[in-house]
Amino acid sequence: MSTHHRNENLITLIDPEQFRRFGGWMDKPDDLQPELQDDVSADVIVVGAGFAGLSTALELTARGAKVIVLEQEFAGFGASGRNAGYLAGSMGLEFELFVSRVGRERAKQIVRFYDTGVPYVEKRLIELGIDCDYNPSGLIRAAVHPSQEKRLRKSMEVGLDLGSVTRFVDQAEMRARGIPPAFLFGCTQHGGTLDPGKYVLGLRRAAIQAGVKLYEQTPLLSWSEGRTITCKTSHGSASAPIMVLATNAFTPQLGLLRDKVAPFRVSAIETRPLSAKQLSSLGWQGREGIVTPHITMESHRLTARNTLVLTTKQLSYVYGSKTPNVPDASAYRALGQALHERFPTLRGLGIQSCWSGYVSMAYDALPVVGATGALQNVLYTAGCAGHGVATQSLMGLLLAERISGVENPLMEALHHKTPSMLPEPLQWCAMNVGLVAAKALDEWTNWRALQRRN
Ligand SMILES: Cc1cc2nc3c(=O)[nH]c(=O)nc-3n(C[C@H](O)[C@H](O)[C@H](O)COP(=O)(O)OP(=O)(O)OC[C@H]3O[C@@H](n4cnc5c(N)ncnc54)[C@H](O)[C@@H]3O)c2cc1C
Repeated sequence: MSTHHRNENLITLIDPEQFRRFGGWMDKPDDLQPELQDDVSADVIVVGAGFAGLSTALELTARGAKVIVLEQEFAGFGASGRNAGYLAGSMGLEFELFVSRVGRERAKQIVRFYDTGVPYVEKRLIELGIDCDYNPSGLIRAAVHPSQEKRLRKSMEVGLDLGSVTRFVDQAEMRARGIPPAFLFGCTQHGGTLDPGKYVLGLRRAAIQAGVKLYEQTPLLSWSEGRTITCKTSHGSASAPIMVLATNAFTPQLGLLRDKVAPFRVSAIETRPLSAKQLSSLGWQGREGIVTPHITMESHRLTARNTLVLTTKQLSYVYGSKTPNVPDASAYRALGQALHERFPTLRGLGIQSCWSGYVSMAYDALPVVGATGALQNVLYTAGCAGHGVATQSLMGLLLAERISGVENPLMEALHHKTPSMLPEPLQWCAMNVGLVAAKALDEWTNWRALQRRN
């Protein structure tokens, strides 16, 4: 089948009308918290109400601190309300890159950081009474063509040496578990899938109930440093001795981390609900979240509402590290193609919605956490790319401990020198060369997978 033919099939499937500005999981909350209109103060100001910001605010409040959260839109507006909902540990990380950057011993600690995020979130869901359809099914990183086995096994081997506990799942076990046949074999690890909209709104509710002062529709415009940091917003100001920037992919636009992280747009599509017949024909009783070992992975999962959500496959970088909230038709088409290729028996299943969001990533793919300012009282966290559900939640605990004077060894392990990004227009050129090359290699794998099946 030619590429031309494959694309043509999909044009009818993805309709721009299906674009959801805030993602497919949640809408603007009905009880939007009022914009900051005053001059207020607290012990800590947290900027950004995603997993990182809300989790930090909750952990700080539990330690007796008075906390203000400034959010430019509403809690969950960023990646936290738009992701695929994989509560994932260390599976599929860039282990070899980690070892070459920070050495084996520190890489081991970093793997431990990723893996600790999973039980941390599982515990918090219970403690905070958040029902977000969490299914602790375990996750599978599954190949779509035999040529992916080498990469998969190598990653497992290096990961195992660093303490990343995974197990190979052969074809027989994949079929016995009812995993759709496009996914040949893989490796499995702890974790599961959840509804990220319900999770982030659960954190929001818990934070408001715990006494966190959340100001929504309140973008931080600028801040002045010193013993007291004063944050300027459109109609007010907030002051505190410490500020935490939990603004992730948006941070470069605040003039910070521009040379450390780049925002990447990640897209998603969600199908219409599968009928009972389609579901039973699919098998997949355990509903394990699946990712693939492509260079730019694909993710495929069932939701509690019996739809399929597919993400990633095609990333994009916007000149100048910008993060416009716009549709990405080309990415939705690529995801529609993946839907057809991985689930040929679901031909004709319509798309209900599509959306995009931004993650941030450093050149070394490692988390970017630290402090800045003359008094080192501006803390920041970014860079966990496609692994933020677990890690950015756990980051809340680590940041709160640090602010309370306790440095968790997991936090200590993350300190390293992040390589510098290129200035524009070199950055844009480099990113696009990398993305085009990744796409070509992944398309080659997909073509071979199709040839094998036909
Ligand atoms: C499509 C997609 C799929 C993904 N899938 C997964 C997955 O399955 N598993 C996984 O682990 N990770 C996944 N990720 C990544 C994960 O969602 C992120 O790593 C994580 O949500 C980051 O959380 P955060 O709190 O650091 O940032 P965000 O959720 O982006 O929050 C940052 C917040 O800061 C606010 N903000 C920004 N600037 C300002 C300002 N000037 N003033 C006030 N507020 C401001 C924003 O509005 C936003 O709410 C995915 C991401 C995307 C986009």
